[in-house]
Amino acid sequence: MQILTGLSQKEIEKITDELHQSKFRARQIHNWIYLKSAKSIDDMTDLSKDFREELKKIAKVSDVKIKVKQESVDGTLKYLLEYPDGECVETVLMRFDNRANLTACVSSQIGCAVNCAFCATGKRGFIRNLDYKEIVEQVLTIQRDTGLKVTNVVFMGQGEPLLNLDNVLKAMKIFNESLQIGQRRITVSTSGIIPGINQLAEIDMQSTLAISLHAPNHDIRKQIMPVENKYNILDLKSALKNYIAKTGRRITIEYLLIENLNDTFDCAKELAHYLHDLKCNINLIPYNSVEYNDFKKPSNSSVMKFKCLLEHSGKKVTVRLERGADIDAACGQLKGKYLQI
Ligand code: SAH
Ligand code: SF4
Repeated sequence: MQILTGLSQKEIEKITDELHQSKFRARQIHNWIYLKSAKSIDDMTDLSKDFREELKKIAKVSDVKIKVKQESVDGTLKYLLEYPDGECVETVLMRFDNRANLTACVSSQIGCAVNCAFCATGKRGFIRNLDYKEIVEQVLTIQRDTGLKVTNVVFMGQGEPLLNLDNVLKAMKIFNESLQIGQRRITVSTSGIIPGINQLAEIDMQSTLAISLHAPNHDIRKQIMPVENKYNILDLKSALKNYIAKTGRRITIEYLLIENLNDTFDCAKELAHYLHDLKCNINLIPYNSVEYNDFKKPSNSSVMKFKCLLEHSGKKVTVRLERGADIDAACGQLKGKYLQI
């Protein structure tokens, strides 16, 4: 049985050829899948009934199940999706009242090997990569379930996208070409996997690259991100300079603020110095609480102080709004079904 979600127009044409139908039929099916969010082949009402019956014998729209769906008081939706092998992954839809944007926060892996000290996903360890169709399914499941069109995608769910780059790039191509989501409306967030950053520089990626920096120096970074032992903050900076030079793009620096660990005046100064010659915006993320670690979220006033200090260095600084915390859908809280911490 062929699954239609994730197929390109060309791949759908192979199916219509097999059934002796025209390329125009393939176009219709493609649009039903990606733009009109058909839930089943029967929804594709501009195909003849006979053709739909033939198609149903060899294909179906999706093989992903929504296991759990939760809605936050702020409108954020979190889905636990189950793939045919029984593995589950979380995906989140964020809506911002004052904007038309609908942002899907997608997962790139089941679990994550990077094991950052502050992150619930890392606690689960690495289970497996998602293939590109499984990544695309996340956005389409949201569209089918809500009837809404996703406008932005961020790779900030479970997993490290640059350790599954081939599938992430294939999924991005489908988001762009089939779902018509502009490349610049797609953000890939990484803990700083240097070979992946170099690869993105080579292909001249036009989507936004976000770097989870979270510390201004090697010593603090290695306390919270084991990846620092492999790809240290100085080599990371060289890779980022090269990326910016090759792509001409401004990057986003994500900086998680944890009370008394990396939110001090000295940290802000050191961070400003590290970033001074990098073309970047800074996004501050107040730590979201995860069970069984001792980190604390800083007070609003210390977040604002940190922001002001960085703004003095001439950078654009935003503070990430916490979304969906009441349903554990905020950044770093996604953990899948099996984790018991
Ligand atoms: N693996 C990638 C992308 C997924 S994580 C990465 O690490 O960048 C998406 C973002 O959520 C990252 O910036 C990550 O550091 C952040 N995050 C993880 N745990 C968090 C927590 N407990 N509170 C706030 N942000 C967290
Ligand atoms: Fe993996 Fe990102 Fe979580 Fe670190 S923050 S463990 S890289 S998902």
